[in-house]
Amino acid sequence: MKPILQEGRDAIREILDQHQRPDRRLKAFLQHTDLLKALKEYQEKLRAFVEAGRPAEFRRARALARAVERARRVASELSGKEVQGWLDEMAAIEKHREIVERWASFYQNMQPLLKRYQAAYESQHRARHEAYAQVKAELDGLGIPTGSLSDRLCEGPVGWSLDGLTCTTCGTALETLYYQIQSAPQERSRLAAQHAPPPGESADAPKFEILRLYDVIKTRDISTAEDLEAAVSELRKAVRAALEAGKRVVLG
Ligand SMILES: [Zn+2]
Repeated sequence: MKPILQEGRDAIREILDQHQRPDRRLKAFLQHTDLLKALKEYQEKLRAFVEAGRPAEFRRARALARAVERARRVASELSGKEVQGWLDEMAAIEKHREIVERWASFYQNMQPLLKRYQAAYESQHRARHEAYAQVKAELDGLGIPTGSLSDRLCEGPVGWSLDGLTCTTCGTALETLYYQIQSAPQERSRLAAQHAPPPGESADAPKFEILRLYDVIKTRDISTAEDLEAAVSELRKAVRAALEAGKRVVLG
């Protein structure tokens, strides 16, 4: 609580307590005139602050600061000195309980921070669409259903949620976008593996085979042209065997 509110409350209590003695009450009132005047001024500022809808904006600013803290490890746009400066300034104003008095300054730091966050978000949202459009095209080519990817294929433009922090269509957090982009190749392999019936179990033999490079290529340390040749020929051998069995090969 602001000190002035605390002091004002104590003063008013002291004045009201003197209800049996009007003379003392007047004296108490006169003693606290300056404080009461300051309190009234502050209350007027506070009323204007509330009427302008600032408390909701302040809550959004807090959510923004938290979202930036969470996403800064995965979004380089949010890790610079400039961003830290905006965050520090906002935190200092909040710490000194000057949100009402220094709202203009608070807002001046919050606005560029929100802009920077949204630009980072839009760029990751776009990159995720590109990554998964590619996964979908590859899986479509193999006749594998991709319905479960629809959220990740959210195309944009981003329609912002009320707090301005996520896309209303897919609702994905910024750091989650990043992790989803990183895991696109595994997701492709997972869907392909899920779709393939276990070998020998069905008459409809799978038309493709997933070959994991890690399993197929045993030559791991490549420092000469001969090593490279060995690695490539291991891959060639595995792929050829699958092709000869009438399968298409998906590298996982
Ligand atoms: Zn979206």
